[in-house]
Amino acid sequence: MRTAEVKRRFLAHFEARGHTVVPSAPLPAADPTLLFVNAGMVPFKPYMLGQETPPYTRAASVQKCVRTLDIDEVGKTTRHGTFFQMNGNFSFGDYFKEEAIRFAWDLVTAPLSEGGYGLDADRIWASVYREDDEAAGLWRDVIGLPAERIVRRGKADNFWSMGVPGPSGPCSELFYDRGPEFGREGGPEADEDRYMEFWNLVFMQYERGEGTGKDDYPIVGELPARNIDTGMGLERMAALLQGVDNLYEVDETRPILDRAAELTGKVYGARAAMDRHPDDVRLRVVADHVRTALMLIGDGVTPANEGRGYVLRRILRRAVRAMRLLGFADPALPELLPVARDTMAPSYPELAADFERIASAAYGEEDAFRATLRQGSALLDEALDATRGSLPASTAFRLHDTYGFPIDLTVEIAAERGLDVDVPGFRALMDEQRRRAKADAQAKKSGHADVGPFRAVLDESGPTEWLAYETLDTESTVQA
Ligand code: ATP
Ligand code: MG
Ligand code: MG
Ligand code: MG
Repeated sequence: MRTAEVKRRFLAHFEARGHTVVPSAPLPAADPTLLFVNAGMVPFKPYMLGQETPPYTRAASVQKCVRTLDIDEVGKTTRHGTFFQMNGNFSFGDYFKEEAIRFAWDLVTAPLSEGGYGLDADRIWASVYREDDEAAGLWRDVIGLPAERIVRRGKADNFWSMGVPGPSGPCSELFYDRGPEFGREGGPEADEDRYMEFWNLVFMQYERGEGTGKDDYPIVGELPARNIDTGMGLERMAALLQGVDNLYEVDETRPILDRAAELTGKVYGARAAMDRHPDDVRLRVVADHVRTALMLIGDGVTPANEGRGYVLRRILRRAVRAMRLLGFADPALPELLPVARDTMAPSYPELAADFERIASAAYGEEDAFRATLRQGSALLDEALDATRGSLPASTAFRLHDTYGFPIDLTVEIAAERGLDVDVPGFRALMDEQRRRAKADAQAKKSGHADVGPFRAVLDESGPTEWLAYETLDTESTVQA
């Protein structure tokens, strides 16, 4: 089943159950605490918080999401994209737990011929919050799920809040057992690649108070209106239904991956499915990142040194770097971005209409990065000529700091000459720099430093570390 059909069936299922279909909001979040929309509920937050009155009590959407927090997982797990689409159904003071569970179960287990996803009910597991006897009872008595496949988990996994006082509540997640070839037996606690989480049902029913830690806060009462917020990963469902190994192999990304393999002369997936061979990981990273860049630029983000534009810059450069490490040194994006457009434009026609603008932003960034790499390469070649054995950490650091030259590329190029790099020393220098930047930021925050010198440090230390932006993409609006 193609991704577009998975999406169509989802919306049809909920429309038939009284939900208003709401189009996706753009990726740049209107919410000032977030860089990007990272869950289907984000555009509905004012309704959940009671700040605005919704024009409907039931809604369904397929929301474009970007989660920068997941970037290091991309290509290594079977299930994390930086961009993905979250199918969601929402109730604002209307139905609650029982219907939410029923609606989800019915869609995933209804036969294909009846508009469902036809999943094997015997392979579905559900998690519930440790103290949520009600949800556990519904799974057991209403759905008939055997007790062995209902797992109780703690607050960190199965209790949701926005990270601040306000609505909160237990959640219940659905997992599909993909079978022994995907990992260890024992349910989602044992192996999350084998037992793939595909849907999260959040039951907002409590008011939480001020807390002392992430999962440490008191429940201070019941909410006057109880809400439902669910999120089903569209690509994850598509991967299950298409019988592919992972998210990057579904119809909307596989063609990018194949084109990258063709360009680099690599044979993708030549090894066992769960083997995370570096070439396969890189091909998956390319497929993911090229699509993410397309979607971000499509929604108006342009490469920059800070904020959203910086995230885009990192994503584009990581894609180019991965291609370079796979052995492709020519401009890669002109070969790859049109493939991404062709897979995504059927669902998002504006990508085709706007492609010239999108392409010029992406190709311009690749050109700039290539120029950086050329400059860095000259310095690196010189340093390598003078190196016997191991390239000093200080040189690797200068390359990174001054030219934005990625360490793995330095290692790769050195290796081509039979040399290695003092990577631990490089990491130590990076840590030291990070500590300095943090101290400066703290000084700035407490008002003890004037902005001039702080700015100078920033300029000197080049592009800010990726991590600096992750603080803006916290669990405060990500679902549990
Ligand atoms: P995981 O535990 O696998 O990281 P999650 O618990 O962080 O997922 P939720 O915040 O519950 O995910 O989001 C709801 C749904 O969105 C998930 O059940 C999953 O299907 C999907 N999803 C979450 N993160 C990603 C991602 N990075 N790429 C693709 N789909 C995702
Ligand atoms: Mg996650
Ligand atoms: Mg999870
Ligand atoms: Mg979840």
